[in-house]
Amino acid sequence: MILKGKVALVTGSTSGIGLAIAKALAAEGAKLMINGFGDPAAIARECDEIGAIHDGADMSKPAEIERMMKRCTDDLGGLDVLVNNAGIQHVSPVEDFPPEKWDAIIAINLSSAFHTTRLAVPGMKQKKWGRIINTASAHSLIASPNKSAYVAAKHGIAGFTKTIALETARDGITVNCISPGYVWTPLVENQIPDTMKTRALTRDQVINDVLLAAQPTKQFVTPEQVAALAIFLCRDEAASITGANLSMDGGWTAA
Ligand code: NAD
Repeated sequence: MILKGKVALVTGSTSGIGLAIAKALAAEGAKLMINGFGDPAAIARECDEIGAIHDGADMSKPAEIERMMKRCTDDLGGLDVLVNNAGIQHVSPVEDFPPEKWDAIIAINLSSAFHTTRLAVPGMKQKKWGRIINTASAHSLIASPNKSAYVAAKHGIAGFTKTIALETARDGITVNCISPGYVWTPLVENQIPDTMKTRALTRDQVINDVLLAAQPTKQFVTPEQVAALAIFLCRDEAASITGANLSMDGGWTAA
C-alpha cells in the first residue's frame, strides 16, 4: 500500500471516474474525503465501504470549496493527494448555449481546480510532497462541435496544470492531468439524448457513430483504467512526471 499515512481528496467522486479513483486510493491506504452529489444512503454506503468521509461542497461555489478544504485539514490532518475531477457537460450550438450553463461548466470543470489547488499547495510545499491530478479530457487537446464550454474548460485545465507544475517543480509536488477519451459513466450516458436530438440520430448511432467513431480502439475507456494511472502518478517512480497531459483515449488524439 503506497499511500498509508497520506490524505486524499477527490472532487466529484460519488460517481463514475471519481468514484473509481477514490476506491483505488483507499485500496492503497489513503485516508479519504469524497465529494459530489447523489443519494445520501448510497453515498453513506460508499463511505463505509472505503472508509471515507463525504463533503457535499458545491464545486461551483468558492466559499463552499474553502470550507471543504478547511474540513479536510481539520478532520483528516492535511492533504497530500488532490484529484480535481468534478465535471459536468452541456451539448448545444454556441448560439443556443445557455449563458448559465457556460458559467456553471467553467466554474465546476475549471475554476474549482484553481480554488482547491491554491488552498492545497501551501501544505504540500511544507511537507515537500504532494500529488495533484486533474481529470482533463481528450477535449483538452482537440475540439468537438457543440461543446464550447466543456472544450474551453478542458483546454484551460491543461494550461493550469502546466503552470502549477512549473510553480511547484522544486517542492516534491507533481501536477498532471489525465485525458480520457469516452469513458462509460453517467456523464456520457446523459449526453446521449441531447446528441440524438441535435443530430437526429438513434441511441445506437450516437454510441457507435458519434462517441466511438472518434476512438480507434472502438472501446470505451473504463473508470478503473483511469484510476490505475492516477495511482501510478502517486508512486515515487512517477516523481519526474509533472506538467504532463497523459492521454488515455484509445488512440483518438493520435489521429
Ligand atoms: P459523472 O457524472 O459520473 O461524475 C461527475 C461527478 O461530479 C459526480 O460525483 C457529481 O456528483 C459531481 N459533481 C457534478 N457537479 C458538481 C458540483 N457542482 N459540485 C460537486 N460535485 C459535482 O462523470 P464522469 O464521467 O465520471 O466525469 C468525471 C470527470 O471526468 C469530469 O471532469 C469529466 O469531464 C471527465 N471526463 C469524463 C469522460 C467520460 O467520457 N465520461 C471523458 C473525459 C473526461
